[in-house]
Amino acid sequence: MSVNAPDPASLALTPDEMRALGYQAVDALVERWTGLEDAPPLSGASRAELDERLAHLAPPPEEGRDPARVLEEAVGQILPLAARVDHPRFWAYVPSAPTWPSVVADFLVAGHNVFQGTWQGSAGPSWVELQVVEWFRQWIRMPEGSGGVFTSGGSMANFLAVVTALHAAGRPARPAVYMSDQAHSSLARAARAAGIAPECIRILPTGPDLLLDPQAVDAALTADRQAGLHPVLVCANGGATNTGRVDPLRSLVQLARHHGVRCHVDAAFGGFAALVPEGRQALDGLGGADSITLDPHKWLFQPFECGCLMVRDIPALEAAFAAEADYLQDTELGREQVNFGARGLQLTRQARALKVWMSVRTFGTEAIRDAVGRGMEMAHRAESMIRARPDLQLLSPATLGIVAWRCRPPQVPAGQLDALNRAVQAAVVDGGHAMISSTRLGGEYALRFCFVNPRVRATDVEAVLDRAVELARAEGP
Ligand SMILES: *Cc1c(COP(=O)(O)O)cnc(C)c1O
Repeated sequence: MSVNAPDPASLALTPDEMRALGYQAVDALVERWTGLEDAPPLSGASRAELDERLAHLAPPPEEGRDPARVLEEAVGQILPLAARVDHPRFWAYVPSAPTWPSVVADFLVAGHNVFQGTWQGSAGPSWVELQVVEWFRQWIRMPEGSGGVFTSGGSMANFLAVVTALHAAGRPARPAVYMSDQAHSSLARAARAAGIAPECIRILPTGPDLLLDPQAVDAALTADRQAGLHPVLVCANGGATNTGRVDPLRSLVQLARHHGVRCHVDAAFGGFAALVPEGRQALDGLGGADSITLDPHKWLFQPFECGCLMVRDIPALEAAFAAEADYLQDTELGREQVNFGARGLQLTRQARALKVWMSVRTFGTEAIRDAVGRGMEMAHRAESMIRARPDLQLLSPATLGIVAWRCRPPQVPAGQLDALNRAVQAAVVDGGHAMISSTRLGGEYALRFCFVNPRVRATDVEAVLDRAVELARAEGP
């Protein structure tokens, strides 16, 4: 049968139907992108509300329907009920503001249904992954010969790093890992999932600077070794999610090497700051690490999912995840022809590097660098705005695009500040002014801005801070 004939039995559309549906999707997306600011940064609903409102969309229909109507249901009723993480006023957690070419790349990859587990399955896209990983290596200044693998995100990259360290250490009986109380939760979770005993996951307390103290790590490594533990990995922050702060990477790398232990830097959010001088300085020593987590879906303007683990010694990574199967014997084409499925847990993998490749080739590295720099610049401007408002208190200065603060009007007693700030945050978010999230710093409830979206505007930040001051006055006693 010709592809021009409609053939429901083979789940095919005609070429005209394919085009119509594709164009309809593009039109819907362009409308969403251009109208983004008219929508609030966050939309959602409870499960019960949706069970009721979307009841007509719940059961799988026996009969098919017009694809245009199905697309309208998705675009009109389902997809808007979500955080708009790329909204210029979404400053919570770590935002993600993809480029249009990167979104189109994901569409192209899905349409080509690339199987990127083996070189045989995807020579071109695997070649692109090698190139983009090489760009990253140069940007973060790892030594030549270092390499990596794209992952679903930072959590998976951290997991691969932990397992690689365990394997490289010979899978000892009582392995131990070290990180600060500012480490991302995915690291301790990765260690637990990798089978490390909870008491051997050493979360070292930080002082007022919130940094991992090399002396404390040194002492813990020495004491644990004497106690019969086998230290395998020191994890440092290359931009803590809370504050953007960077642990003393150069000292930690040296210390770990001195102890014969691997050093991993979780730079999921902060790593691409190395593209600009301020970030490169903050991340001094990064390239010396044994492994580094990067999240292009954060500060490299890619849609979810896009993470990456970089490693100094690729064989150590491949040894940790080696798998042999008779039914894969045809895919061994020699070391040069990299099977990316052998660098992690996923055999079937999406081609994630292509979106980075298309973004960077479209805009050029200079524009990408400028866009990264903008986030950092915006955090500095926000810090000045916070300092200029007597009712606001700076809790953590602008670091890699993050700044933390709270309302502290003089008439409000210290004991009521947590509740006050929680109320201000809720009012800012519920009012659709901006999406901001909170954390705890030194025990205090802290509001936090994270500016990795190059489309954030200073006037919006001013307006939200003014609003916070107003709300705090109104909420206060
Ligand atoms: C976001 C983040 C992670 C987790 O990455 P996902 O992509 O969400 O899995 C890990 N570490 C740090 C420092 C992060 O900012």
